[in-house]
Amino acid sequence: MSPAPFLPYGRQTIEDDDVAAVVEVLRSPHLTTGPAVERFEAALAGATGAEWAVAVSSGTAALHAACFALGVGPGDEVIVPALTFVATANCARFLGAEPVFADVDPETGLMDLDSAASKLSPRTKLIIPVHLTGASVDVPALRAALGPRDVHVLEDATHAIGGRRGEDSVGACADGATLAAFSFHPVKHVTTAEGGAVTGRDPALRDRMRLFRSHGLERDPERLDHPAPGPWYYEQQLLGHNLRLSDLQAALGVSQLGKLARFVERRRALAARYDARFEGHTRVRPVAVGRAREQSAYHLYSVLLDLPGGLPERAALMRRLHAAGVGTQVHYIPLSHHPYYRARGHRPEDYPGAEAYYARTLSLPLYPTLTEAEVDRVADTLLLALEA
Ligand SMILES: *Cc1c(COP(=O)(O)O)cnc(C)c1O
Repeated sequence: MSPAPFLPYGRQTIEDDDVAAVVEVLRSPHLTTGPAVERFEAALAGATGAEWAVAVSSGTAALHAACFALGVGPGDEVIVPALTFVATANCARFLGAEPVFADVDPETGLMDLDSAASKLSPRTKLIIPVHLTGASVDVPALRAALGPRDVHVLEDATHAIGGRRGEDSVGACADGATLAAFSFHPVKHVTTAEGGAVTGRDPALRDRMRLFRSHGLERDPERLDHPAPGPWYYEQQLLGHNLRLSDLQAALGVSQLGKLARFVERRRALAARYDARFEGHTRVRPVAVGRAREQSAYHLYSVLLDLPGGLPERAALMRRLHAAGVGTQVHYIPLSHHPYYRARGHRPEDYPGAEAYYARTLSLPLYPTLTEAEVDRVADTLLLALEA
């Protein structure tokens, strides 16, 4: 009998029709940005309920382009949760602005709304809530906590495609957020290998991001500052980058988006099975996200562990699980721990909620091709390892 396969904490699901979609583009005249990118953008706008989507080369590029479109620049402050992937904060730094960290709820890891409101200053330009694990931050409640201040909300929705908030799909930008950023990295719900996108409703922001993703170059005769002297003409209207998604990737994205509902449904079913397996076990608790739980897209299945031995005990546990073929990860190391942000004056002790969540959290394998038997194997292995 062959040993049980290693189960990573997350992985892509690529099926034959995904492969065929990419091969078709390889034989077409367009390899980079072309008709498949337009199809992908239309499909994503449809899936989220937004007015439009702008596809870019990564989730990080999506956050960067969104910050640029919203006018983030030197002297501005951008409020982000103290516990997230570094890209959420770095997008402010790319534009010379300073990320300000709001603490997170120690039980959910989601941005604490009162902490966020307490970080408002006259320099605050933007606030970026992160829908950690796929459970949406309550954006209308965030808006209410911020009061009458005119600050934009950009959702870091990289964990939450296919999730819902009230009546809306995440990314619809219909209840208080201006823009939402998505990632199509292979560990996320649907993949383009590398890729990202921004959704929203204001066409002026869409147009700015379209320029930004391609060197700031405008070719549309209607939009030129100077009359075109001939058909070769284009003009650089702002300083952009090359953040384009290719047609190869977009074709994969269109194919994958068609499976989003099925993938999310499968993730929810597997999460429910984990929940049932851990019921009554005091040392393992699924991350509690209240009502958001039912609507979560379940990018991650994260638990909070009771670990009297602290970080060394978690390290030993992760090694034991790895040896038993179970991959796990910690989402995330608080931003204040990174040397780059320590050097900018942040101290871990200023964010006790992030410390408490970080010390106990662990993400277990979750992806659509995981089987019920594998969920049981992970749960059994974890519960056994905790007794060791
Ligand atoms: C994945 C991720 C990103 C960045 O996406 P990339 O496509 O990897 O650039 C940003 N924020 C969070 C919370 C993420 O998980």
